[in-house]
Amino acid sequence: MAGSNRCELDRLLRQIEACRLCAGVLGHEPRPVLQAGTGARILVAGQAPGRKVHESGVPWDDASGRRLRDWLQMDEATFYDPQKVALVPMGFCYPGKAGSGDAPPRRECRAAWHPRLLPLLPDIGLVLAIGQYAQSYYLGDRHKGSLTANLRAWREFLPGLLPLPHPSPRNVAWFKANPWFEGEVLPGLRARVGELL
Ligand code: SF4
Repeated sequence: MAGSNRCELDRLLRQIEACRLCAGVLGHEPRPVLQAGTGARILVAGQAPGRKVHESGVPWDDASGRRLRDWLQMDEATFYDPQKVALVPMGFCYPGKAGSGDAPPRRECRAAWHPRLLPLLPDIGLVLAIGQYAQSYYLGDRHKGSLTANLRAWREFLPGLLPLPHPSPRNVAWFKANPWFEGEVLPGLRARVGELL
């Protein structure tokens, strides 16, 4: 069973790698960037790759990723081990710019791939729903109406789910304005990660 799951996941990841669904709308060549292994315990559900990650092809290979690993107190070897951590954003390709930031993740991606991919990760014990798009998807009717309200209620989502803000440098003002996040949520996050890995 584990072996067939692994084969199925390998096959699906190859299909995703070849996906060109959004080729006509992205304005650049699609480059899906994600990581997943059948034994993964933690699912990092981010937004979509930024330009730097689009260029390197390495998920969370940027300032946001450094801050996220610091939040998790996790070294790169663990973070990039697909049998421990799945890195599955809401959109797998860089969506391009919109105004002063990046465009939203492509909705086609979630519809096309998430229902097929997530069942192949049966050992996930914690989903980190990072930012508004992942929180809309994973919190569903438990969504509190805003990102800050979701985070304030972080305890009620554990042990299987935890909403997080995006660790982007663009959110530094929010981190400063909400010191309880670092003081309360991060210790809770680290304790749960410690239980799983
Ligand atoms: S964003 Fe997702 S659906 Fe669109 S081309 Fe990339 S992998 Fe395919």
